[in-house]
Amino acid sequence: MKSFAILTDTTRCIGCEQCVVACKQLNATGEDAPWPWQGSPNDLSSTRWTTIVRGPHGRPVRVHCRHCLEPACASACPVGALHTTPQGAVAYDPTICLGCRYCMIACPFRFTRYEWESNTPRVRKCILCYDRLVSGEISQPACTAACPTKATIFGERDALLLEARRRIEANPHRYIHHIWGEHEVGGTSVLYISDVDLATAGWPTYLRKSSYPALTRPAMHLVPPTFVTVAAAMAGLSWVIGRRQKLAQGEPPAELAATTDNPEEKEKL
Ligand code: SF4
Ligand code: SF4
Ligand code: SF4
Repeated sequence: MKSFAILTDTTRCIGCEQCVVACKQLNATGEDAPWPWQGSPNDLSSTRWTTIVRGPHGRPVRVHCRHCLEPACASACPVGALHTTPQGAVAYDPTICLGCRYCMIACPFRFTRYEWESNTPRVRKCILCYDRLVSGEISQPACTAACPTKATIFGERDALLLEARRRIEANPHRYIHHIWGEHEVGGTSVLYISDVDLATAGWPTYLRKSSYPALTRPAMHLVPPTFVTVAAAMAGLSWVIGRRQKLAQGEPPAELAATTDNPEEKEKL
């Protein structure tokens, strides 16, 4: 089974945003309407599944979902709306999404986005053009096809890792000797090589080498019992408050009123 992957070489990126435009056109995401809380109008959003951020020295760096080999977003989703595919893409089924947004909290890169503008919001992100690649509609993602400098290329993960190593070995003084995504968070299908450190451009230093689902799974198992406990506590509190209000207004609480038919006793109550 082929494993889809994308390798982005930041030394070749000119920041033209052709990749962004191509993705928006292919997926018909419409005009961007940035929300006030977005860090930048060009931040990832429900209508912008890939974007260009600025790294050290203003270097343009393309960002989008990393398609983690063991995705924390999928492990956090209680209904399996986000799921891994045999080809390595982390895909999304909007028909079963609850809109709970656990996936957004779980993603170590903070790359999932919510349709705040919709009455039936879904989580949106790059899906690695998975459905169109599998159906044969396209032979590579729109973003990689559109890149004029081949700064971002599509292929099989193993082949792209070899290509990344080849470029670093061929230009050892040009590149930092590191392939981002080879090991971070257990490995991702979106790989990077660069001549500048990418810690401030989508690869934060707090990332673990091992996968995140092992961390999130125990926490997610606590959600159902916690929900039931909190709901029971709230119901109890509501009953106590209601009872006190009725007593304060001189009305008998329902459970006492039901115990007697004597008007005098009811009077005392
Ligand atoms: S980068 Fe985030 S949204 Fe993408 S697969 Fe990994 S955990 Fe999921
Ligand atoms: S792989 Fe497809 S969905 Fe992802 S950024 Fe590129 S064009 Fe958009
Ligand atoms: S199309 Fe290529 S060169 Fe242009 S911003 Fe995207 S990755 Fe960089």
